[in-house]
Amino acid sequence: MKYASQNTIAQNIQSIRTHIEDAEKKYARQSGSVQLLAVSKTRPIEDIQAAFNAKQTHFGENYLQDALPKIRSFSEDAIEWHFIGPIQSNKTRQIAENFSWVHTVDRLKIAKRLSEQRAPEQKALNVCIQVNTSGESSKSGINIEETLILAKEISLLSNLHLRGLMTIPAATDDFNLQRQPFHLLRELKDEIQSQGIELDTLSMGMTNDMEAAIAEGSTMVRIGTAIFGQRTKIL
Ligand SMILES: *Cc1c(COP(=O)(O)O)cnc(C)c1O
Repeated sequence: MKYASQNTIAQNIQSIRTHIEDAEKKYARQSGSVQLLAVSKTRPIEDIQAAFNAKQTHFGENYLQDALPKIRSFSEDAIEWHFIGPIQSNKTRQIAENFSWVHTVDRLKIAKRLSEQRAPEQKALNVCIQVNTSGESSKSGINIEETLILAKEISLLSNLHLRGLMTIPAATDDFNLQRQPFHLLRELKDEIQSQGIELDTLSMGMTNDMEAAIAEGSTMVRIGTAIFGQRTKIL
């Protein structure tokens, strides 16, 4: 997808919503079954406000210190914040307290800490397991073979609500190659569900592979560049 950089954030969001609806039709997906997560890492509060004014209410952040001031600048229930970055164990308390979703859980130790540190008066923290669908070319995410066991363990933790699986495949521009890891993730979700664990989320697809992800069953695409433009700031 190409988005002219002079477009406003509101226009970009509208284009992506249209693109999602078109892809839902094209791949026989139920209308409204693919949610848009706006990835606002490194972006200023004004950009988030512009997206929020365009009725975008789910935002993804990768870096806790970058995210906290943004989270605090909005009233508590206005936005659902999703943590989608690597998790260091000394950051789990603030992640558990400030986010409603975490997409990047790949170890039981982190899951246990998040569950213990989620305040009991808050709703259960929604969690996805990050799966490595690209083999050696990726270091983050649990291996496919180990995912079922982790899913069973996480489903027993009282302050977490296991929602599904997430993956960040190795980048490629080839549409058919893009579909493969997403297809694997979809099959893995089906296998875990056949073991009696209810999952409703496949967090997959970014600016460059969103269509392939929707074709393979994504329920949540995580889009940064196509909404906010190229990232310049490195954290
Ligand atoms: C940055 C990021 C995205 C968004 O990527 P774009 O290519 O800018 O759409 C999605 N998911 C994760 C985990 C990210 O870190």
